[in-house]
Amino acid sequence: MTRIGIGLIGAGFMGRSHAIALRAVQGIFGVDIVPSLELLADVDAASAQRAATALGFARATANWQELVRDPAVQLVHVTTPNALHKPMALAAIAAGKAVYCEKPLAATAADAAEMADAAEAAGVVAAVGFNYLKNPMLLAIRDIVAGGEIGEVVSFRGLHAEDFMADPAAPWTWRLDPAGGHGAVADLGSHILSIARFLCGDIAELCGQLATVHRNRPLPSGGARAVAVDDQARALLRFASGATGSVEASWVATGRKMTLAFEVTGTRGSVAFDQERMNELQLHATGQLAGREGFRTILSGPAHPPYGKFCPAPGHHLGFNDLKTIEAHAVLEAVAGGTPFMPDFREAARIQATVDAIVRSAHERAWIVP
Ligand code: NAD
Repeated sequence: MTRIGIGLIGAGFMGRSHAIALRAVQGIFGVDIVPSLELLADVDAASAQRAATALGFARATANWQELVRDPAVQLVHVTTPNALHKPMALAAIAAGKAVYCEKPLAATAADAAEMADAAEAAGVVAAVGFNYLKNPMLLAIRDIVAGGEIGEVVSFRGLHAEDFMADPAAPWTWRLDPAGGHGAVADLGSHILSIARFLCGDIAELCGQLATVHRNRPLPSGGARAVAVDDQARALLRFASGATGSVEASWVATGRKMTLAFEVTGTRGSVAFDQERMNELQLHATGQLAGREGFRTILSGPAHPPYGKFCPAPGHHLGFNDLKTIEAHAVLEAVAGGTPFMPDFREAARIQATVDAIVRSAHERAWIVP
């Protein structure tokens, strides 16, 4: 049995999801790897202790530097606001620890590349939390696309739309802090770009557009602060394969909660997916009977690994935290010496380079090579 000592920095939305996943991994996958929840860090001692108790960590600290140096910690989870990913991940790498960092990897492509260089030089596992790629339906779609079932891919149309910033009264948060990088294009755009690359490969050229809808946001402490980042972003894409496409990202898309959706069109069919219905895919094949043509719905089930690890019956549905569990399992396997984890820091740096290129293209009003 391999024990892997875990240190987790930041116990918010994602920190909780990572902890839930770590606690589920052994029961779901029955592996011989035991994540040992050693140390949790947050901004102050009281909130760190509260979260450690709730999430099952042995100890708590208000000092993340102490966490990365702790001898019982082998794998550092970085689940803090974006601006903190780089110093925290680099410190963990310098201490010889494996890192499992949330997306987007860094504020800029240059920072992300520096982090990938450091991880490769140190020879440590460096994983990034693009959990939607771990959906068994995404793996099935990649099989469909790569196996030529829909013919030659000619188009990818992708969208990540949510509405958590649609209300102009929604207060200022770290997601608007330029120190953490760009706006919706990085926060949500990185997800849809990770999928575009996962299914269709390298992006050779793009043309971007950005818009800030709400130019001031109220500060929680009173007053208001000007917004410098985008609320919505778009880009036309040309893939290295020759296929064309587009992506959109918006956190002001009124009514949309988790529309991480896309359609891949091929010469002999199409495949479509929407995270709001994350347990199904839509598949169309050409050559159907006239008047009976259409997409058919395929529900997830044990035929789509690793669904069967969670449930023996099809159509019973996985959930968001199950994707994190699949991802956490893959990270633990990599740390224990199994198969390399993807997307790693290098792939996340390529995604970040595409995000930065959309921003540059929008400012220069020109097509850009990412
Ligand atoms: P959050 O605000 O809910 O949580 C952030 C946590 O970090 C808070 O508990 C905060 O107190 C803590 N923190 C801040 N500064 C700290 C410091 N100096 N030391 C220790 N702890 C500190 O944010 P979130 O929504 O969980 O987002 C965190 C990261 O996860 C972001 O990078 C975000 O982009 C990413 N994220 C990923 C997904 C996904 O699906 N993969 C979803 C949401 C967020």
